[in-house]
Amino acid sequence: MLSVRCPIAMMTVLAVSFGLAIWLFYLQGLQGAQARQKAEGLWLRRIDLAPARGNIYSRNLQLLATCQLTYSVWADPYTLQNAARKIWGQQLSNTEIAARIARSLCSLLKTPRVSEKDLVKRLSQTVRNRSNGKPILIRFVWLARQLDEATIRDLKRVLEVRREKELAPQWRVLKAGIGISPEMRRIYPYIRLAAATLGFVNLDNVGCYGVERDWDEVLRGKSGLMELEVDALGRPIPSGYYIHSSPKQGDSIILTIDDQIQKVAEDVIDEAMKNFLPKSASVIVLDPKTGDILALVSKPDFDPNEYYRFTPERFLNRPLSFVYEPGSTFKPIVAAALLDSGVINERTTARCDGIWKTGTFSVRCWVVQKGSAAHGVETIADALKHSCNIAMAQFALRSSYQQIYEKLSKFGIGRRLGVGAGFEEPGWLDPPQQFLSKEATRHHQATLAFGQGVAVTPMQLAVAYAAIANYGKVMKPRIVKGVKSEETGEITWFQPKDLGNAVSPLTASKIRNMLVSAVEEGTGKRAKLDGVKVAGKTGTATKVVNGRYDPTKVVVSFFGFFPADSPKWVIGIVLDEPTYGKWGGEVAAPLFAALGQQILWRVQPPRPLSLTQDLTALSFFATSPDDLQRQ
Ligand SMILES: [Zn+2]
Repeated sequence: MLSVRCPIAMMTVLAVSFGLAIWLFYLQGLQGAQARQKAEGLWLRRIDLAPARGNIYSRNLQLLATCQLTYSVWADPYTLQNAARKIWGQQLSNTEIAARIARSLCSLLKTPRVSEKDLVKRLSQTVRNRSNGKPILIRFVWLARQLDEATIRDLKRVLEVRREKELAPQWRVLKAGIGISPEMRRIYPYIRLAAATLGFVNLDNVGCYGVERDWDEVLRGKSGLMELEVDALGRPIPSGYYIHSSPKQGDSIILTIDDQIQKVAEDVIDEAMKNFLPKSASVIVLDPKTGDILALVSKPDFDPNEYYRFTPERFLNRPLSFVYEPGSTFKPIVAAALLDSGVINERTTARCDGIWKTGTFSVRCWVVQKGSAAHGVETIADALKHSCNIAMAQFALRSSYQQIYEKLSKFGIGRRLGVGAGFEEPGWLDPPQQFLSKEATRHHQATLAFGQGVAVTPMQLAVAYAAIANYGKVMKPRIVKGVKSEETGEITWFQPKDLGNAVSPLTASKIRNMLVSAVEEGTGKRAKLDGVKVAGKTGTATKVVNGRYDPTKVVVSFFGFFPADSPKWVIGIVLDEPTYGKWGGEVAAPLFAALGQQILWRVQPPRPLSLTQDLTALSFFATSPDDLQRQ
């Protein structure tokens, strides 16, 4: 099934058999005497030739979305009613006829997707009013879309009988005005894998949500056209006018998603959904050097093969659309901004006494909530290790708001990143002119230092961490690696896009070392991995409910990367309102470790390999681009 393709030849067959349907559409626009008069003359029939949609591959060239041949059943209610009266008797009402036809059809199409009640409704109406009030005949309705071959087999047999006299009356009626047209259906062989990232395609071949929506123009292809002269019965005239242009098949795309890492990430988070019962969860795995998105998980999810069974909020790609106050995971980004602009250095100190009153506001450290001792004198490294709000606020107030704002913007905070995997939120970072008083700016600056008063998406934060891992250089996150022309077989590979440095390589490496301590000795201990050093930070952000922080509603998260001395994987994990577990260090850090360990085992079996090799790239090229062209 996985190798089912959408050949152009098949689509042409589809289009030609659609001819009658299109013809009926034409008749729809005509009425009574005018129709008869016109029907006596010659007609120009125009047929749109539907293109086949391109495939979607993972970076390991597994088929994540493709097409399958299906069959749709349509009817001409007007003709059916007329034929039925001739065969069954003139006195029958439209509804009685529709009920008999529906019963016959349901006995042939044994599928729960076709209901008798629904068919009666579609078949009993033969006239409807146009917007200008004038009635028109209904000569075409869909009865069932995209059924498999087994389901339509019995109906097909009836419609193909040549001698009508051999048929029982109920089948003769069907034959007068029922047709079957082949149609291509989108299928997703891996069912729910990366569902929100892929999105789905509706019955009209339009990409909805995810990559299917954002890359619709590439995938969709171009319709072809056939125009020919036909007689009153719709038969082509041999010497008549004729033009034909073939449809252009949609191009296929190759994602940056590694289906194996994606699978592991989904398994880890499925388990977390059961254990912690959060409202939703997001996972991102990024390659910091290229910005390649290796995994993108959004839970709860859906089955794109049967998207109509799910509510629309399941279709959102939460790593791109979930907006929240990041809390402590934001501290390293602010720390990088402060170090880089020179307002503090590694020896600059601050002091935490649990509560710090300054000007018109005060800042509390989490130690007060947990009832542990205050942090005392701290450097920026200590502040990150202890995740101390007061020290961060004191450091941040040494800078100007403008300076911090500019650096954070460079990291990608507060704007859409243009990933192309579904709807993206810009988040929120107050521009400097936002504040009227100096004191209000100070207050905002202080809270921003520990991730409050700013809203981010998980992707924005993952990109910022990737920049720290990548010597300060911000890479544009990308989901598509290449596009394959289905007509020529040629693949166009895209180059990773460098968005410039947010901070210097030196600043980035200092923050990286501090994030290693935060995992080794600080709040992120449970994110440790066997054999490699991890750099990362936990986050526990209280949510604002009705204008106040509600301590019972939290977003817990962990952002980090490994191996710390030569980072290959950035992982961001965000759980919204877990029912069990209220601290990022308890909930999100172990999930990071579980996912990170599985990624390592994948590339490090069973004896240790050198991690300086780009193993993700190796696994990709194990299937060469030539193999792709042969598929
Ligand atoms: Zn503190």
